[in-house]
Amino acid sequence: MTVGSLSGGLVLTMDRTRPAYREATLVIEDGCISGIVDGYIRHNESIDCRGSIVIPGFVNTHAHMAEVLWRGCGGEQNTVDWIANRKHPLMAQLDGDSIRVGVRLACVEMLRSGTTAVLDPEVPAHLATRVASATGDIGIRAGLAVAVASGAGYGASDHSHGNHHHSHAGSDSLDVAGPGFPGFVERWRRDKHERAALWLGLRVLSAADRHLGKVISAALERNRLRLTFHCAEQEADVEAVRASSGVGTLEYAEAIGLLGPATVISHGVHLDEPDIEVLQRTGTRVSHCPSSNSRTGAGVAPVPAMTSRGINVGLGTDGGMVNDRYDMLSEMRYAALLHKAVSGDPKAVTPERALRMATRDGARALGLESGILRPGAPADVCVVDLEALGSWPAYNPVDALVFSAGSRNVRHVLVGGEPRLLGGDLVGVNIPELLAEAAEVSRYTIRAAGLEEEVKPSWLRREGRSSHGYRRSHPHG
Ligand SMILES: [Zn+2]
Repeated sequence: MTVGSLSGGLVLTMDRTRPAYREATLVIEDGCISGIVDGYIRHNESIDCRGSIVIPGFVNTHAHMAEVLWRGCGGEQNTVDWIANRKHPLMAQLDGDSIRVGVRLACVEMLRSGTTAVLDPEVPAHLATRVASATGDIGIRAGLAVAVASGAGYGASDHSHGNHHHSHAGSDSLDVAGPGFPGFVERWRRDKHERAALWLGLRVLSAADRHLGKVISAALERNRLRLTFHCAEQEADVEAVRASSGVGTLEYAEAIGLLGPATVISHGVHLDEPDIEVLQRTGTRVSHCPSSNSRTGAGVAPVPAMTSRGINVGLGTDGGMVNDRYDMLSEMRYAALLHKAVSGDPKAVTPERALRMATRDGARALGLESGILRPGAPADVCVVDLEALGSWPAYNPVDALVFSAGSRNVRHVLVGGEPRLLGGDLVGVNIPELLAEAAEVSRYTIRAAGLEEEVKPSWLRREGRSSHGYRRSHPHG
């Protein structure tokens, strides 16, 4: 199905030259916006948007999609512990069919809450084509950062590295220096994965020594790829970089050639002034994940200090075990609240800034033409109805959008002009079936990883079972 126009809504373009239209019609042709015209104009195949806000679709700049399968299974642990004890043992259980279920579920949740593009920072290499086919089926735009084989680095567990010398089809990480890499890139391009772009994903900066940094940098340039890596999420990561290199986090990243406009660093919690100067100088993009950083106790990223220097900061939800939502509306709300609270400045992150981070700046981080509603841009659009209980009256629409709205207010979502959500219903997805599949995969992967007892809430754990082969004993409260 195609849509000819979105008619009569309040259009927030995120475009500096014309930020808003009180009532306008967005005309769509060949998947792109061909014009924005004042007033309500009815076309064939038009969607009536009167009374709603029309905005660019949200761009989620950091989302581990498969982790939706283990929502709520992270435990109240710091990043190093939950990655070692939960994430890696669980991820190791996934095959092509099961990761597909998780990715589909995460994509559907994102579409339901208005997201039209996502960057997954850590896609297992041997499952990457299955992930790309899942995002393509659901019809979301995706950057898929295939995990690069690296050293241990900070926070590594047995599962997170050790594939350094393998580039065969079964390996979960990609040896960018190996003979198999050019073929991998070539196959990806030949397969023409719909709306899915190949990225490289480095687990953490401290996992790349100078040699690997140079190799990655050369691979990026040669193949015109983008890079994302976890950066300064925890103080320990910053210390690991300093201990091995003798310099600050981003000074090191720049020295080994990993920064620039084609790089998204995620988290950036423990950045200091010199780091921020490097980001500004190199035009590197940042993914801010406030819910995840709060959930794991990582801290609060210096977002106002970055945005005031013109650094491009997008928003990310991170994964199911550390958020536990893939909902950019709630991420915007939290970003806007959090920085006011910690700085004492109610203007620290305004609702307008939060909306910009979630749309325009996120799209820019991913190198997409979407994120701004203007002629020529892809029609990646979200229509939000604020005339509902909980968000009405909406005297200031941007405030209402950021502070009051939830996914329940999202009415229509278009990706490349195609409706993926129509009147609040997902197009072409059987939700009960998908939820049942997800429950099944969740159950068997948790069982296969030997985590059945560990992930149980403490009030369900049985006394005296810790001696029967469980990995650790648990305090019973
Ligand atoms: Zn992450």
